[in-house]
Amino acid sequence: AVRTRFAPSPTGFLHLGGARTALFSWAFARHHQGIFVLRIEDTDLERSTPQAVQAILDSMAWLGMAPDEGPFYQMQRMDRYREVIAQMLAAGTAYHCYSTPQEVEAMREKARALGLKPRYDGTWRPEPGKTLPAVPPGRKPVVRFKNPIEGVTAWDDLIKGPISFDNAELDDLIIARPDGTPTYNFCVVVDDRDMKITHVLRGDDHVNNTPRQINILRALGATPPQYGHVPMILGPDGEKLSKRHGAVNVMEYDNDGYLPEAMINYLARLGWSHGNDELFSREQLIEWFDTRHLSKSAAQWDPKKLNWVNAHYIKQSTNEDLAARVAPRIQALGGNPQAVDLAAVMGLLKDRAETLKQLAEGAMLFCTPYTPASAELVAQHLDDAARVVLQDFARRAQALPEWTTPALAELIHAILADHGIKMGKLGIPMRLAVTGQKQTPAIDAVLTLLGRETVLARLAAL
Ligand code: GLU
Repeated sequence: AVRTRFAPSPTGFLHLGGARTALFSWAFARHHQGIFVLRIEDTDLERSTPQAVQAILDSMAWLGMAPDEGPFYQMQRMDRYREVIAQMLAAGTAYHCYSTPQEVEAMREKARALGLKPRYDGTWRPEPGKTLPAVPPGRKPVVRFKNPIEGVTAWDDLIKGPISFDNAELDDLIIARPDGTPTYNFCVVVDDRDMKITHVLRGDDHVNNTPRQINILRALGATPPQYGHVPMILGPDGEKLSKRHGAVNVMEYDNDGYLPEAMINYLARLGWSHGNDELFSREQLIEWFDTRHLSKSAAQWDPKKLNWVNAHYIKQSTNEDLAARVAPRIQALGGNPQAVDLAAVMGLLKDRAETLKQLAEGAMLFCTPYTPASAELVAQHLDDAARVVLQDFARRAQALPEWTTPALAELIHAILADHGIKMGKLGIPMRLAVTGQKQTPAIDAVLTLLGRETVLARLAAL
């Protein structure tokens, strides 16, 4: 069965690139009815924080990518890593190395001077018939992996195609430090093996780790998973995506009013394609996802397209659903979401909104106490002629049998015809009078939502 994993290092918030890699691993597992594992790689004690762990969990929950197993924490697996190190030492696939960092640096210098790749020279590497130096008293060794010296380590990358490294290029990797703590690549290997990971999709900044990990896995008698290395995301200017290009923290998109379903759709299209389809549901993504259509080249972040995708999901949501999502935002802005039929307001605003934030801002008109228009605006737009028209409207509106948008639209048309004026002469004065603002959504709908009593009271107070 397919088993994938997302293995973030909790050194900050979950950024867009991480979320996208997680998404690919998640979608691949879901497509194959496999298992998606979440593993927190928290062994870098100086840079890992509990807040960052929480931020990752929150982001995954927001995007709806629940792991089937985990979160596992590498810091809780230290005994297991030590156990495997001991096994490798016993099996002779790893060895103690007593060279000091200074000595290793000198070896590297020497290689450089000879025009070779800087490397550890194998002083402590046991070979049949070789006599090792005497152990320096009191010195704590590192543990090195006994990497194959000859041949190549190759794999058929799910995204990049065949990749191979000469084993001669790969140093004998340190897998445990002098204090016994395991190193990064080693923990990844033990975990991928113990967690029976079959497919690893990760950023292509890990390509150089892969041959080392494959060799260690083989030394452990394990079959390496299949690897796919995802190219990075570029900003609109072609540089690596970073803060300079705007928000890179996934949760900032939540804050800015993007829907998780829009984020999933947009992130999936960023480096993966299904024909010309731009808009697809989570279910369709799962049904269609494959690694063959993951792009070999870097994807470019396009905020305009994200907005377009988000606008689509907003339009597609029910008014009730939008109202529920927007109500807390209105409250946060200091408004009262209960002051109006919020679902109806959503219906009025949703065709033109790109984010939930815009919906909340638009709805504030109906959720805050009325502030009459400034004297300046009144002087500018509410002349005697306009007042006569508004008074006529008020009189006839009072008698309107039904307070509905079609009825109000009809009344407005009748008023325009009877006074021989264009909409421009009525629209702004009416808006100013009943909302205190010059710009609002369609006036007939606004009048409906405000209600007859409010509209007539405000017109009377003119
Ligand atoms: N912890 C690594 C990172 O956050 C990922 C390791 C992996 O996927 O193998 O970059």
